[in-house]
Amino acid sequence: MFKKILIANRGEIALRVIHACRELGIATVAVHSTADSDSLHVTYADEGICIGPPQSTDSYLNLNAVISAAEITGADAVHPGYGFLAEKAHFAEVLAECGLSWIGPKPETIRLMGDKAKARQMAIKAGVPVLMGSEEPLDDLTEALELASRVGYPVILKAAAGGGGRGMRIVQHEEEFEHQYSTAANEATAAFGDGSIYLEKYLVEPRHIEFQIFGDRYGNVIHLGERECSIQRRHQKLLEESPSPALTPALRAEMGAAAVQLAKAVGYENAGTIEFLLDVDDSFYFMEMNTRIQVEHPVTEMVMGVDLVKMQIQVAQGEALKIEGGFVPRGHAIECRVNAEDPENFRPSPGKIITFHPPGGPGVRVDTHAYEHYVIPPFYDSMIAKLIVHDADRDAAIARMSRALDHFVIEGVKTSIPLHRGILQDPAFQAGQVSTRFMERYLAKKPDGAN
Ligand code: ADP
Repeated sequence: MFKKILIANRGEIALRVIHACRELGIATVAVHSTADSDSLHVTYADEGICIGPPQSTDSYLNLNAVISAAEITGADAVHPGYGFLAEKAHFAEVLAECGLSWIGPKPETIRLMGDKAKARQMAIKAGVPVLMGSEEPLDDLTEALELASRVGYPVILKAAAGGGGRGMRIVQHEEEFEHQYSTAANEATAAFGDGSIYLEKYLVEPRHIEFQIFGDRYGNVIHLGERECSIQRRHQKLLEESPSPALTPALRAEMGAAAVQLAKAVGYENAGTIEFLLDVDDSFYFMEMNTRIQVEHPVTEMVMGVDLVKMQIQVAQGEALKIEGGFVPRGHAIECRVNAEDPENFRPSPGKIITFHPPGGPGVRVDTHAYEHYVIPPFYDSMIAKLIVHDADRDAAIARMSRALDHFVIEGVKTSIPLHRGILQDPAFQAGQVSTRFMERYLAKKPDGAN
C-alpha cells in the first residue's frame, strides 16, 4: 500500500490527485516551479518541493529533478496527471529502476499506443475498425500521393508522435498534397523531434466519441461508457458530455466492446481512453488511445458515480478492479473548460484574478486551482477551472450548466465563460446535433466574434 505519493504535475489535476490521496489516507508531495510557489497544489499537499525555474522544460518536464524530489521526500509512487510526463514511457521506466511505483499503464503500453501509426496497426490486429490509410509511416512522396488517391480526398496527414491537436494537416486536393506533406513533416520534426507522418481518410462531419477504459494487473478490462467531445476548436476540446446524445444502447455496446477488445489486446492496465470518430452513417473508427487520466474524466465520474483517480491508485497498488454488479450510468453530465483567454480571439489572458466566485448548488462541481488574487502565470496551459454539472437528463444538465456559468464570477482576466454560455444557447447544440465542425460554424455565424 502506498504511504506517500508525489504528484508530478500542477494546476487543477495536481489538486484532484491530492483530493483522492487525502481520502485514501495517503500523504502527498507537490512539486512546483518557482512560478507556482503560491499555487494551491503546493498549499494543500503535505510537502512541497521546488524543482526548477518557470519554463516547464526546466521544471515539470525535468525528469531528474522530479525523481530526485521523490527520493528526497521518500515517496513510494508517482502520479503524473495529464500532460507533462504522463505519456513519457522513459519516465515510467526510470521510476521503476529507482524502485518507485508508477500510477499508470506499463511503459511498453505507453510507448506502443503513443505511436499513432503503431496504435493503428494494433487496432487492425484487434479487429477494431480504422479509417482507410497508411499501415506504415510514409517516407516517400510518390508512395504517399498514390495512397492518397486510393483513399480519396480529403485526407488527413498526422504526425506519428503528435498529440494535443498538433501536427495534423488536412489535404483537400491532390494539387496541394506535396506542399502539405512537406510542411507536416517539417512541423513534426520541429515539434516532436520525429518527422514520421501517416495518412488516413478525412471525415468531413464526424463526432469525437471516446470510451473510458480501465484495466488491472489480473487481466480485467472494463469500459465506463463514453464521452462526447465534438465541441472543439482547432482540435482542442472545449466542452465534453456523457452520455453522447448520438449513441443508441446498441451502438454504445458495440463501440464499448471494440474499445475493451483493443485494450485487452495490449494488456492494458490502469485508466486509459480509446478515441473514435463516429461518422454520419453510424460507422465508427479507432483514432487513438490516450494512456493516462484525461482532463474530461469528471463527466464519467459524475454519471458512473466513481472516483477514477482513486481507482488509478488502487489498481497501481495491485488491487483488482471491483466489477461485481457492473457500472450503471445515471443522468447526464457536462464539463466546460474555463480558460483564461479572450473569448473573441482566443488569446491567452494571464494575470491577476481580482474576483473569483465559483458557483455551487446541487449537481455542480468545480475543479480548479484558482482563487481570489491568484496570479495566473503566463508559462503554462490557460485552463484555470473545469465546471462540471450533473442532472437527470441532458436538458436539465444544460439548464444547470447555464445557471452555473451565470453564477461563475471571474474578474481581472478574460475567460471562456461567455463562449460557453453562447454554445449552450445554440439550437443545434441543444438538439444534440454536434460534430467536430460545430465550433467552426458557430464562430462563423458571429461576424463580430461576439458571444
Ligand atoms: P491529438 O492526439 O493531437 O489529440 P487526434 O488523433 O486525437 O489528435 O485527433 C484530434 C482531433 O482531430 C479529433 O478529435 C478530430 O476532431 C480531428 N481528426 C483527427 N483525425 C481525423 C480524421 N481522420 N477525420 C476527421 N477529423 C479527424
